[in-house]
Amino acid sequence: MSVDMNVAEEIAFQGIEKQAETQIPEMDAKDRCDACGSRSYVAVILKESPKENKRLDFCKHHWERHESALLDRIVDIRDERSKLDAPKESTVHA
Ligand SMILES: [Zn+2]
Repeated sequence: MSVDMNVAEEIAFQGIEKQAETQIPEMDAKDRCDACGSRSYVAVILKESPKENKRLDFCKHHWERHESALLDRIVDIRDERSKLDAPKESTVHA
């Protein structure tokens, strides 16, 4: 019974995520800023050469520091900084 509810919630959540038009998979705690090792909230694909693209991950701080320098080389971006502001997911069953 409660299992069905959880599945429904998961499907709804994935549906929202799929709206993002990016090839970069959703990020989680394993994704780390290439500059400082903090959890990354922005991932970009940089065009390094006609044949090779390179992914870089940034925490909020380092992304904002490097954004202007990288913008013209970015071919794909996933920006999850909204997660920083969003309230923690909590199941309130009080
Ligand atoms: Zn960083």
